[in-house]
This record gives sequence, structure tokens and C-alpha cells, in this order.
Amino acid sequence: MIGLIAATAAGRQAATQLAEALRPDETRVYEGPVGEALRRAYGECSQLVCFLATGATVRLLAPLLAAEGSDKHSDPGVVCVDEARRFAVALVGGHEGGANALAARVAAALDAQPVVTTATDAIGLPGLDTLGLAVTGEVAAVSRAILDGAPVRLLGGDRFPLPALPTNVSGDAPAGSPTIVVGDELPDSQAGPTIHLFTPSLVVGVGASKGAPTDEILTLVRATLADAGLSERGLHSLASVDAKAEEPGLLAAAAELGVPVRFFRAAELAAVAVPNPSDAPLDAVGTPSVAEAAALLGAGAHELMVPKRKSAPEGRAAMATVAVARRPARGRLAVVGLGPGARDLVTERARTELRRASVIVGLDQYVDQIRDLLRPGVRIEATGLGAEEERARSAVRLAQQGLAVALIGSGDAGVYAMASPALAEAGDDIDVVGVPGVTAAMAAASLLGAPLGHDHVSISLSDLHTPWEVIERRVRAAAEADLVVTFYNPRSRARDWQLPKALAILSEHRDAPTTPVGIARSVSRPDEWHKVTTLATLDPAEVDMFTVVTVGNTASREIAGRFVTPRGYRWQE
Ligand code: SAH
Repeated sequence: MIGLIAATAAGRQAATQLAEALRPDETRVYEGPVGEALRRAYGECSQLVCFLATGATVRLLAPLLAAEGSDKHSDPGVVCVDEARRFAVALVGGHEGGANALAARVAAALDAQPVVTTATDAIGLPGLDTLGLAVTGEVAAVSRAILDGAPVRLLGGDRFPLPALPTNVSGDAPAGSPTIVVGDELPDSQAGPTIHLFTPSLVVGVGASKGAPTDEILTLVRATLADAGLSERGLHSLASVDAKAEEPGLLAAAAELGVPVRFFRAAELAAVAVPNPSDAPLDAVGTPSVAEAAALLGAGAHELMVPKRKSAPEGRAAMATVAVARRPARGRLAVVGLGPGARDLVTERARTELRRASVIVGLDQYVDQIRDLLRPGVRIEATGLGAEEERARSAVRLAQQGLAVALIGSGDAGVYAMASPALAEAGDDIDVVGVPGVTAAMAAASLLGAPLGHDHVSISLSDLHTPWEVIERRVRAAAEADLVVTFYNPRSRARDWQLPKALAILSEHRDAPTTPVGIARSVSRPDEWHKVTTLATLDPAEVDMFTVVTVGNTASREIAGRFVTPRGYRWQE
């Protein structure tokens, strides 16, 4: 029975709501003065939910918990819910009393936050349980050591792009320390507590005769991995020749193992040098090797972990062969847009990627903007303005070394920023993840009103990377096409004539006194400033490098001080 105790009207409301959400015969509401109610409930129930402050609850519970014959094993599970129903705190009897689990149920029923402070539940491998890797072993003990700052040994840290780890976790910690093993091998009995993170890195090439039974393939795959000291959890995929794309035993074995099968053309397989070619598959499917060649191709590896091995069914000829290769570790490059400046315009996904990385590459001013979001122990490669190419190249180089790298940029990192120079350097040997950001043009538009309600373009007025003739041609095209235009990099001390020139070109095609122009500076930053003016009255002196300038089309208007571009031309008439 769960006893519900409340002292105020709000508490009684919440108690009623909880009683309705739980099973009807599961709860009992205790009325009357709280001290009295709690004592009765304590005697009659195995769990209590107190709609009281933790302090009041502790004071009332203390003598009951201290009573003779009570100990940690006999404590009821007690959960406290605050008056505003924000939190369900597991106060006493977290494990054996079931308070941790009860806090989660109460929180779900009341739309509150469960608060659990017992160590083994609160501990999660910092950053390592969100990687999508299978985890086994003594998670609580190793997590505890990580949080205690004790030396923790990391084995196989170069087998997967891990996030930054606390400095007490390292390859140099003495043997016998709590250990984290990253890889695809079978767990091996170590001296200290160990956890295993399994990388999906094994590709098993499979050759199968027509009609090869599922069991024969499965048994062969499993025995081959086990004999080589490799874990089934380390499987990435099976690989074979496309003539076997419909082979039922092969498909069923893959389904049972929970991995996909990749099929290669016979000619692709025939081109791979293998240790054990043979005539049988050459005659049957046109390549001297299926298992070995498919394992190597599927893994993108040059060497086999396990060469070809045949099944050994009793009393008949073998119908399956396998070979195993390991995919090389692949680095990860996240290209992360941080938005225009304000913290609440940094997306959730950008935050996640910043914490997923072990190295951050970016302009020093952007690194400063998000430094507090980074994981302790993260490596920072910050460079000053103008070192774009070096930054892009160094981010790619670090990812090629197998690291988890985040390359950061303001706004969207693909807009006049680092994504394109980086991806121009990157090959298919790394994984790339893009995180979109709120651009300066979008942030400015929200501030100005609705200037981008119809077709629009962005044009950078910086002639550092682009000859002025090209820029001018684009401005002219935008003017003729009646597009709303947002100018990036509009004006600096050294580049002061480009903006007036561009505006003059637009004025040839728009009515200057009625065409709205928005100036937005340092959008979403502490010195944010904006203004809606017109093509005729804009003062270029109000524009600098921290500004974007958005010019309306022939239908845009200023309405109640806001810059509005109609969604269509027809409804405006
Ligand atoms: N990747 C960025 C653009 C970088 S180019 C994006 O997606 O927005 C740099 C130019 O962007 C600056 O010269 C300025 O024109 C504009 N800009 C960047 N942040 C801005 C902000 N917070 N407010 C106004 N303009 C900004």
C-alpha cells in the first residue's frame, strides 16, 4: 500500500490526482494533522508519498527511522513532492524500499521531475552511455571510480571516436585499476572492475552454397568469432556476393544476428587479393573468393582477422565458409552552427555535439561563447581571424586520426563559414555530421518583422574571396528578379563604398522612398540594435561588420514599424 499524506489544499489536490493515476487499490489517503497521519501511514504502508517539504518530512520521519529494530533494509520507500509539484524526491529507501522507482512513477503521473540521489542509480558513465555502443560489465563500480577521480584505465581508446573523458581516465593508469575496454573482443577477466564498450567493427564475409541451412551458417559464424576471441556484440555486418542476395539461410542468419548483409558484385570480389582463393566459387559465381574478399571489401580493410574457415556439418559436405575482417576506426567530424550569439539560440543538437567531441576547432571568439558547455578535459584548438583554411584543414586532419572533432561556426556553419572549406578537404574515410544553426539573416528577420516572406537571397559584399564584378553581377540579377536581399559582411572601415553601390543598383529597380530596409546589428547579443528605414534614407554609417542589411522587394512595406514582405503578390491587391 502507498500512503499519501498532504498538509495543504494544493497537496491534497496533488494527492487526489496521484491516487487517480495509480491503481485504485494501491493507495490510501491519510487525513488529519500531518504528524499523526504520517505515523499511522508509516505503520500501515510499505511506501509513502508526502506532499510536504523535505525538511518537514525528515523531522517527522526521523524518530520513526531511529526506532529500535529499524534499519536500512526495513525502511519504507518515501517520496516527497513539493507544493508546486515540480519534483518527486526519493528521500528514504531508494533501493529496497522502492522509493527510486516510486519517484519515477509519481513524477510521470504529476508531470514532475524525479530526483534520485542514491549513488548507483545516479551514476552513469560520463558521456559513454550515449554513444550507441553496447555496454556490459561493472558500470556502477567503474563510474564511481571515474567520478571519484581515481585512476581508471582506458584500453582501446583509439578504436572509436570517444568524447572527452576526465583526465583520471587514461591509457597510462596502472594495471589492476578499474578499466574501460573499447573494442570488439570477448570480455577477458581483468583484475579490477571492468566495463566493455563494444564497437560495431567486425565484418564477416560469408560464402554459402545454394540451400545452405541457417543453422549451419549461424553456428559457423558464432564458432569462428568465439575461437578468435571476438564478441558477437562487435558485429557490424555480414558480406557476400550478389548472386546470394536471395539466399534464405544467409538472410535468416543475418536477421538472427541482428545485422545487415552487404552484397558485392563478383567482379568487385575477384579484384581483391586474398590468402585462400579457390576454384569452386570461381566456377559457381565467378570469383575465386567470396568469404575472404567480401569480408575485406565490407570492412574496407587490407588484412583479415580470421582467414577462410569451412563449416563442419556431420555426415555431409560443408555448405558455408566465413572469414572475418575489422573496419578501421573512423573519426567523426561534427560541423556545428552555434547560432547568432544568444545562448538560447544554440540548438539542443549543437549542445549534444559539443559534448560528444574530444576536440573543438574554431575561431577563439566562438570558443569563448560556448566554453561552459564543453566537457572537462576537451582539447581546444582555437585560432584567430583569417586562419580559415588552416582551421578547416586541422579539423579534418584530427578526424582522420580517428578523433571526435567539432568544428564550430557562428550562425549556420555552412553559410559563409567553415563547412565548405572543411568538406572540400575531407575524404570518405571520416564520418561527417552537420548541425544546422540559426543564421544571422534569419535572426535579423525575426527582429525586423517578416522581411523574408517571399523569395530572397543572401549576398556577401566582402570582396576578399570574390571579385567585385561577380558581386555586382549578382546584386544586379537580384535587383532585376525582384528578390529580397540580405547583405552579409556589408561594410567595414576598409570597405565602405560597396554597400552604397549595391543599394544604388537595387534602387534602379525599386521605389527608393517606399522600399523598406532593415539594419540589424549584433542580433541576439547584449549590444543588439536594429532599425527599419528605406532605400532612400539609409545611412551607411549605421552599418558595420557585425550587421546584416535586408532590402525589401517591390511589394515589401513597413507596417506598424515592422518590415513585412507579402507572402504573395495577389493577396496584397
Ligand atoms: N555563418 C554565419 C555568417 C558568417 S559571415 C551565419 O550563418 O550567419 C559574418 C557576417 O555575418 C558578419 O559580417 C555579419 O554580416 C553577419 N553576422 C553574423 N552574426 C551576426 C549577428 N549576430 N548580427 C548581425 N549580423 C551578424
